[in-house]
Amino acid sequence: MQRFKPEQALCETRREFGEHGGVTPSISRSATFTVMDPATMPEIFGGRRGPESGGCFLYSRHFNPTSSILGRYLAAMENTEAAICTASGMAAISSTLLQLCHRGDHIVSSDTIYGGSHALFNDLMPQMGIDTTFVDPSDLEAVSRAITPQTRVLYTEAMANPTLKMAHIPKLADLAHRRGIKLVVDNTFTPMMISPAVLGADIVVYSLTKFINGASDVIAGAICADKAFIHQLMDLHTGRVMLLGPTMDPRVAYDIIQRLPHLAIRMREHSRRAHRIASRLEELGVPVIYPGLAAHPQHALVTELINEGYGYGGLMAIDCGTQRLADAFMDRLQNEEDFGYIAVSLGYYDTLMSCSSATTSSEISDDAQKMMGLSEGLVRLSVGFTGSLAERLAQMERAVIAVGLHRS
Ligand code: PLP
Repeated sequence: MQRFKPEQALCETRREFGEHGGVTPSISRSATFTVMDPATMPEIFGGRRGPESGGCFLYSRHFNPTSSILGRYLAAMENTEAAICTASGMAAISSTLLQLCHRGDHIVSSDTIYGGSHALFNDLMPQMGIDTTFVDPSDLEAVSRAITPQTRVLYTEAMANPTLKMAHIPKLADLAHRRGIKLVVDNTFTPMMISPAVLGADIVVYSLTKFINGASDVIAGAICADKAFIHQLMDLHTGRVMLLGPTMDPRVAYDIIQRLPHLAIRMREHSRRAHRIASRLEELGVPVIYPGLAAHPQHALVTELINEGYGYGGLMAIDCGTQRLADAFMDRLQNEEDFGYIAVSLGYYDTLMSCSSATTSSEISDDAQKMMGLSEGLVRLSVGFTGSLAERLAQMERAVIAVGLHRS
């Protein structure tokens, strides 16, 4: 079990109070900021004098007081020197990769990643002269063979969307660093549970849209890294966040700041319920994938990598075999049992479920889906924590029996 305590780190970071003594921080919505001494303007513009080095805020696409508070909290939680917030998870991923890679460069990526990230690497970035080789990240030999002198980045999700395969971050970090490249980890599925930077990752990217915000009401992202990389992203001449402009709205930053203090409690409850439901499904002989089950092939690895006290996560997958059966199962769960919603995304307080091959992995070709072990009937469930667990177990049991997913 890991020793890092993200909850404690978050709690120990300097607390920000609002104007007039408010217990919540103020929302600073100003697009621009008054510079009191005009002589300091060139230094502020040159990035030598920021708000924490005798200067002031300049313009909210650069740094904004409210978004900076969220960035500081996220950096504490991830144990990185700094973090920058972005308008979406895709903005965090694309800005990071475009900052690290230029024309002629190469990425080695896990073959099992969110469909949008896959499309970015496979379809869009080649148009900019940046190519990607996709490999199974658990095959370290294959990862090593895929690295070329042009490779700049090794990219993986800590827990893969949607097969829930776990990356061995310490081994990947070791390999990346021996070959002089950066390890970038998307930790969207496993905040608090996994601390990629503590395990050796150089940069941690997030879709905050999911568990971290937890209310499915905003789209947001973040990049957690060392100060030097965050400053590169904000450089006035070449910074990808500064110049491509995926700025987080300070009102969104405020909303997420308000939800961070209960992220740990939510993660524990997502995990507790997912574990109980997965265990019951296993007893019923349903083909369920959940890393917390002892029979899961990576159970020992996940147990080694997770921070103590957050369980094995809120996501599980059920392989229904065919899309027809997957649809019948989800239809039953939503429309007969009221168990949750047929909707993409995850990390909501209610259960969300979708058939991945036809939705959030649909950008990935059928052959590539086969290679990553994604069945057309795989239903990904993000287990929520509303309602009584006993009732949710009963609803799930009735649904699997009704559609014949159980062992007969
Ligand atoms: N990373 C993962 C693992 C995701 O599942 C998603 C979206 O589903 C993203 C990144 C993209 O995040 P966003 O929708 O906030 O841009």
